[in-house]
Amino acid sequence: MTTPEPRPPVRALSLLSGGLDSQLSICVLRDQGIHVEAVVFSSPFFKIDSAKKAAAKLGVKLHIVPFIKDIVGLVESPSHGFGGAMNPCIDCHARMIQRAGEMREAMGFDFVATGEVLNQRPMSQTRRSLETVARDAGLNGLLLRPLSARLLEPTVPEMDGRVDRGRLLELNGRSRKPQMELAKTFGLEDYPSPAGGCLLTEKGFCRKLADLKEHEGLKDDRPIWLLLYGRHFRLPGGSKCIVGRDVRDNAAIKKLFKNGDTLVYTVNVPGPTGMLPEGAGQEDILVAAAICAAYGDRGTRHEVLVKIQSPAWTKEISVPPCPKERLQEWML
Ligand code: SF4
Repeated sequence: MTTPEPRPPVRALSLLSGGLDSQLSICVLRDQGIHVEAVVFSSPFFKIDSAKKAAAKLGVKLHIVPFIKDIVGLVESPSHGFGGAMNPCIDCHARMIQRAGEMREAMGFDFVATGEVLNQRPMSQTRRSLETVARDAGLNGLLLRPLSARLLEPTVPEMDGRVDRGRLLELNGRSRKPQMELAKTFGLEDYPSPAGGCLLTEKGFCRKLADLKEHEGLKDDRPIWLLLYGRHFRLPGGSKCIVGRDVRDNAAIKKLFKNGDTLVYTVNVPGPTGMLPEGAGQEDILVAAAICAAYGDRGTRHEVLVKIQSPAWTKEISVPPCPKERLQEWML
């Protein structure tokens, strides 16, 4: 009699934001011997540091997938609309899971898992939203939500026995208590608070994003990355002007500079670096110089020396600082 071939280990690919739920989801699957790897999606709108930290603590391999084109496309045209700001959460979840589904196929994972909890969030985690996300992601029964699985339709890996449904959970609602208890049993400590961290949910950031969408459009990545730094102004001639708030902003603005842009910075007093992306007119460049002067450490000076490096010319000019009311009027 021949010995039956040992069954290959079940392999899951789990979305990992780094928050407690996504960590627990991995722990619950590993608790029944499933091999889990994690995936996180990167874009200018959300940081991946928590996911990296969590993956290192859990000892799971983390796949980092660029997601900027996906999320920008969804911001431009979200089929399920926005949440409270410019956050297309239902489409975003569905797209991340769809991308994970493509990786599942290419890399031989049995199914995709997430840390979603039924009814934890009022819009994006209702039963209806979870069903919409599953349908749009198109994984055909290969999407498992281990934390609420027993309250949801059984998935393919549960039905064919690769996953023991009896050892999955039935978490439901907004209370975090059960998760915190579970965290103790799995030895998870020092996990981040559930509060978002996604810039698309922040109204201040979305004002700048909406302005960019309206004027320059969202086709290029660079203007989107620039939204993360400095104060942003829409000048009277229609140009955009970005002015650093601190050394970090100034360095980032210089790093993102490219041929065709105009750089503006104070010469005789400490002050910010300003940048007008390509195509700025002369009038707007002079306004930008006055804005930089206004944020310079000018003491009692009535004028500040500002250096302008435009594609066509470089010069130093002495300008009075831009009045406060104008700054407020043009600031995004
Ligand atoms: S909060 Fe941001 S990252 Fe999270 S689902 Fe919504 S849009 Fe996507």
